[in-house]
Amino acid sequence: MSRVYVLLGPPGAGKGTQAAIIAEKCGIPHISSGNIFRENLQNNTNLGKQARLYMDKGELVPDGVTIGMVEDRLSQPDCREGALLDGYPRTPTQAQALNEFLKKNGNKINAVPFINVPSNELIERLSGRWTCKAEGHVYHLKYKLPKQANICDLDGSVLYQREDDKRETVEQRIKVYVEQTAPLIAFYKKDGLLFEVDGSLPIEQVTDKLMKIVNC
Ligand code: ADP
Ligand code: AMP
Repeated sequence: MSRVYVLLGPPGAGKGTQAAIIAEKCGIPHISSGNIFRENLQNNTNLGKQARLYMDKGELVPDGVTIGMVEDRLSQPDCREGALLDGYPRTPTQAQALNEFLKKNGNKINAVPFINVPSNELIERLSGRWTCKAEGHVYHLKYKLPKQANICDLDGSVLYQREDDKRETVEQRIKVYVEQTAPLIAFYKKDGLLFEVDGSLPIEQVTDKLMKIVNC
């Protein structure tokens, strides 16, 4: 694995949107822990059943389940060229585990772009988000409409509203982010890896700023 990037930011900041664009431009896989959990929910696997208990409440899935799942994904052959992580790590324990996993494989994180967006905008973004069933591509009622109503432009699958994008769950997810994930800002700043980007800008402008941070 050569180029490893971690996209950090609150729920709704635009991590998934940007990760899809940048991974394509850079030719590295986009690894979203949330998408892996949702695939498992759809396929009704044991992992999915376990994860649902936490996801529907806006809580984090325990580290003991999440770390192994992401390490398995990072061990796949397509990650030899690197990876763009979205939504992982989300706790200091996950961040530590990631550093150790990469070190064991003779690697390290190259940069941590931090997409920052104020809380009031996050609520509007998440309540207007529509997600594709097949691969998790994201759209927005106002900011990113699909060409054909309710259909994903990229794979033709149907769009749905995520269960955890309901207002009460969104508020809980933002609280969990502040308490459990925001400490990673200082963690990565200390190592000189953190690069903050204003995520309130339009999608294309955020991409331009991120492309200056990632080296590809
Ligand atoms: P995250 O992965 O960080 O939770 P998403 O990428 O799913 O966030 O984006 C959340 C919602 O906001 C989606 O509906 C997406 O279309 C929309 N969105 C993403 N980036 C922007 C932006 N820069 N401006 C306006 N809306 C955006
Ligand atoms: P996301 O798709 O990134 O918004 O994640 C959706 C949900 O999946 C989160 O609210 C958590 O319940 C769970 N999840 C995703 N990634 C992680 C992670 N790194 N650690 C724990 N839970 C996670």
